[in-house]
Amino acid sequence: MAVGGCFCGKVRIEYTGQPLTSALCHCHDCRKLTGSPYTYNFVVKSEDLEISGSPKEVAKTSDSGNYIKNYFCSDCGTPLFGRKIKSHGEPDEITIVRAGIFDDIGILNERKPEAEIYTDRRLVWISPIEGAAQVSGMYSQPL
Ligand SMILES: [Zn+2]
Ligand SMILES: [Zn+2]
Repeated sequence: MAVGGCFCGKVRIEYTGQPLTSALCHCHDCRKLTGSPYTYNFVVKSEDLEISGSPKEVAKTSDSGNYIKNYFCSDCGTPLFGRKIKSHGEPDEITIVRAGIFDDIGILNERKPEAEIYTDRRLVWISPIEGAAQVSGMYSQPL
């Protein structure tokens, strides 16, 4: 099991199981969301997440055209996870968790990104990760 949470500790997240995949995203939205050059994300089944606290949600249509809700700690602002919202308003069964929220750095060291997406927007001074699929734009699996 992996545990994590926001900077101030008011929102905590427990995760069981293994990510479906893991990816760096270099898109414009991810930069803005996190204030960082790119995000590292674990793509997980929503049912494998246990969330305590009440993250604030911010909705936006993403670069891929999907309607996404992103969740933050309302006190400290840590970006926690995002979910696609289906056309009838229900959240997707898949959740994109910002990998940096996990407490144990070992989890991040063990799991290298399987892919990088929106590589066309990667900053020029950042090198591709060896062994990670390079995808310009969104890949077929929804993020
Ligand atoms: Zn917080
Ligand atoms: Zn992104």
